[in-house]
Amino acid sequence: MKKIAFFCIPAHGHTNPMLPVAAELVQRGNTVRFYSFDEFEEKIKATHAEFVSCDRFLPQLTAEEEAGLKNISTTEMTIQDIRITLSMDSFLGEEFAAFQPDVVYTDSVCFWGKLNAWKHHVPMVVSVSTFAFNQLSSQYMKNSPKEMADMIFGLPKISRELETLKPYGYHVKNALSLVQNDNNTDSVVYTSKSFQPYAESFSNHYAFVGPSVFSKALPRKTKDRPLIYISMGTIINDRPDFYGKCIDALKDLHVDVIISCGQNMQQKIPGKLPDNIKSYPYVDQLDVLSKANAFITHCGMNSVSESLYMATPMILYPQTNEQCAVAKRVTDMKAGILLQKDSSSDIRSAVEKILGNDSFAENAKKCSEDFRSCPGTAGAAEFIENAPHPSEGRDIIEEMNKQHGKTQLLYWLIAATVIILFGSLLSWRFVWIIGVAAGVLSYPIGKAMQKRTYKKIVEKTI
Ligand code: UDP
Repeated sequence: MKKIAFFCIPAHGHTNPMLPVAAELVQRGNTVRFYSFDEFEEKIKATHAEFVSCDRFLPQLTAEEEAGLKNISTTEMTIQDIRITLSMDSFLGEEFAAFQPDVVYTDSVCFWGKLNAWKHHVPMVVSVSTFAFNQLSSQYMKNSPKEMADMIFGLPKISRELETLKPYGYHVKNALSLVQNDNNTDSVVYTSKSFQPYAESFSNHYAFVGPSVFSKALPRKTKDRPLIYISMGTIINDRPDFYGKCIDALKDLHVDVIISCGQNMQQKIPGKLPDNIKSYPYVDQLDVLSKANAFITHCGMNSVSESLYMATPMILYPQTNEQCAVAKRVTDMKAGILLQKDSSSDIRSAVEKILGNDSFAENAKKCSEDFRSCPGTAGAAEFIENAPHPSEGRDIIEEMNKQHGKTQLLYWLIAATVIILFGSLLSWRFVWIIGVAAGVLSYPIGKAMQKRTYKKIVEKTI
């Protein structure tokens, strides 16, 4: 029996999948101590894990910082995570000395969990509540210019902030090493190998356990009067404009509608609702999804996984680059359609398309069967109990990078030859144009070559 310390940031989407894992570990006789926040106390205690409140370490934010976080500014989130780590340092030092955990199970973006596991030399398993992102699967995320600018201009700020960690015994190379999934870190991912992009590129240090849910109930849907469920998740659900358009789109259809819109409902959905539409601050989402015939979703990883688990096709309305990556995977599986424009008529025709074509529901059912055949929470618990895991088998990313290095060398040799030939035979004056073109093209060509190399290695492996 092991002592396991759980760490997570204050977010439903990150905490929720850890809860069934905590319950499973406790049931198997382990001691689980969950470092979290008052908002989650009830849910954590229901798993019979010990709850430790960390609310007093959350910073008082300025209006600017709060706005940054609401906009999902990566820079602001990283800086806040670092500051929380510092304010928790002495408390967690005492906790590690007293509790002496055998394993740390920490959310992948919870810096204080990861950094303290490293500092106190405790084996660590990372809980990945999104897809696992490495150099290949992160290509699924297309950053907007705003997100790119935030990351580029935020780097010096983050580097300064990382420096403040050093005197406390936390040594971090850069922010990427704190957030990226690598092939040497034991990690639990709450999806299946078929749903994870580039699944073969992850080593045996990854356990793809499928959605982590409490209810194993089967879907029970009726078609006579379809149920449409709408949720924008728990973080940025302040969207009165969008709820208004959905209400307008669905009020005259032969459907029932449930909207989960978070707190302050009156401000978000003012006025009297049509008879076929109900709104709530929070619902038992898995239960609603088990009956829903379509889900209009912001494409949070948990919502999408739960929807597929309950065989519910989706109308995809992603808001961030990460949610776009999740949405893309659902369209790959043909289990949903992307809402290109969010006018009432677009929403209505998307709903009609999903309800009028059984193939979406059938494909969602296939994903459901795939998810239900995964090792689940019992598999996650076993993987955590047995950490640390030795490295076994091939590291396809390492092999790919080695081969890709050679391809890149060849590319630049050819480019140099062309430059020299152009200069000697035609003109040295305009040779710079070839150089610039080779530089600009090197990125997309490099990426395409990298994918090809990956495909070849995977084909050979199978
Ligand atoms: N959730 C819920 N009831 C609600 C709204 C959300 O139980 O009314 C849960 C949902 O089941 C999921 C989580 O909150 O587990 C939302 O996570 P997700 O990753 O989808 O989105 P986020 O809120 O992190 O943007």
